[in-house]
Amino acid sequence: MAQGDEARGPEPATVGRRGRSTAAERMLTFHARLRERGLKSTGPRDDIARVFFELSRHVSAEELYAEVKKINPHVGYATIYRTLKLLKECNLLFERHFEEGQARYEVAGEHHHDHFICERCGRIIEFENSEIERIQDSIAKHLGVLLTHHKMELYGLCAECRVKPPAP
Ligand SMILES: [Zn+2]
Ligand SMILES: [Zn+2]
Repeated sequence: MAQGDEARGPEPATVGRRGRSTAAERMLTFHARLRERGLKSTGPRDDIARVFFELSRHVSAEELYAEVKKINPHVGYATIYRTLKLLKECNLLFERHFEEGQARYEVAGEHHHDHFICERCGRIIEFENSEIERIQDSIAKHLGVLLTHHKMELYGLCAECRVKPPAP
């Protein structure tokens, strides 16, 4: 996909609630889970986790790196990756692989949700639909299978891109 990062920008239209926990509460959880694992919190690790929780959207490792650099210029890329991996192991992060290619990371919320991804501007819109969930359950029943999880990704043009001519 030929979308540049400059065309991506923040996700102003991301809808859906991220759960009630604040970034500060998530930091406390992070520290508790680190202690359970016999790990200490470090400055760089904390900076990365805090920025990640505060951004609270679907960031790539590069985007997170750029944001963390603003508050801690000494953090290296490898530390970003290690911390993302750690946050995932602590069940505080979901890793998403949308069709655009690069992995995106979002704060693990209390609610299951699905995604719409705009193929032009890269905007990611979260949605929940009880009917979709119900239909999936009935398909599973029909197939006689046990579902563990699912990924529902819708692709197309967002409302804004639909009315805008494509960038030259
Ligand atoms: Zn769009
Ligand atoms: Zn999401």
